[in-house]
Amino acid sequence: MRSREDFQNVEEKCLASYAIWSSQSQGRKYPEKEHDLRTPYQRDRDRIIHSTAFRRLEYKTQVFVNHEGDHYRTRLTHSLETSQIARTISRTLSLNEDLVEVIALAHDMGHGPFGHAGEWALQDLMKDHGGFEHNTQCIRIVEHLEESFSDFPGLNLTYETIEGLKKHPEHFYADKKKRFRSLEADLVDVADEIAYSSHDLDDGLRSALIDEEQAAGIFLWKDAIQYIEKSHKKMTLNQRKRMAIRLIVNRLVTDVVAHSQKQIEKSKIKTREDVQKLRSSLIGYSPEMKKHVVELKRFLFQELYQHYRVIRMTDKGQRFLKELFHVYLQKPAQLPPEVQVRAKKEGVHRAICDYLAGMTDRFALDEYKRFFEPYERV
Ligand code: MG
Repeated sequence: MRSREDFQNVEEKCLASYAIWSSQSQGRKYPEKEHDLRTPYQRDRDRIIHSTAFRRLEYKTQVFVNHEGDHYRTRLTHSLETSQIARTISRTLSLNEDLVEVIALAHDMGHGPFGHAGEWALQDLMKDHGGFEHNTQCIRIVEHLEESFSDFPGLNLTYETIEGLKKHPEHFYADKKKRFRSLEADLVDVADEIAYSSHDLDDGLRSALIDEEQAAGIFLWKDAIQYIEKSHKKMTLNQRKRMAIRLIVNRLVTDVVAHSQKQIEKSKIKTREDVQKLRSSLIGYSPEMKKHVVELKRFLFQELYQHYRVIRMTDKGQRFLKELFHVYLQKPAQLPPEVQVRAKKEGVHRAICDYLAGMTDRFALDEYKRFFEPYERV
């Protein structure tokens, strides 16, 4: 049987000297005895997977509102795809795959319902009451809002995991250099971008909001299709589309691995302390590939995220959220008792904001019905 110590020895032998070894973790805010079988980052990952906020990602919008269709990505499947891509990159670069996995799985937990439109609604509602931002909310969830343990608030994750989740350090530190930097966290940022750029293109085509003719203007798509037409003559249209998406993901991941390895060697970093001194991330695309990714992202922005039907879907959600906020605020006695307790401690605006941000699309819509449909039971 292998124990935590064995895994930690394997890390020290197999990972790069500048990787984050779990044996050198700076620990947790509330000290706990380490687990016999799992390393600290494996334990963090398990705490995320078993958390309420993680399960709710299943019914939160990525681009398409959940009830629009069963096959579109949700925040949960997006997080799983991000994690899978991030782990591949991590393994090939000899970085800590467990740390990468927990950061990837948790990175979007702070998002409210209805995607970015939901976030804009909460930002607007909270502008005079301390604001709202999904990355800060993610940290608030893991440090404060999850209530699984009696000895401490939140999930009491390790320092490295929490720092890795601070994707926008400017929200946390006046001096950005104070942030603890790891190649593991930098890597998840890139994996996130690869995941959403490729799967949003896939979902956009699947929904027919964009078509192949439009996509043909994009280098990455055009190049993948040209390759398929030469090499795989007998394919259904659906298989062709899927293969093109696979090829794009593979191409981006391969490019990131090769370019990042070169950057790491050029930088001559040796230790995790050296990583702290870096001014910019070493993990990324080659300059050539970067141009293609920018082109793809611009295309998705113009043709998909700004599509009138996507805007309708999410704007509808934004309206519900605002109305719910005002209903609660008018008479906080309508809030569930645990939210009322929080309102007493943290102020009614913050408590309502946390409650709304925690909702799934589905719950928010049901709640709206309960308040505004006369025949709906409350
Ligand atoms: Mg994401």
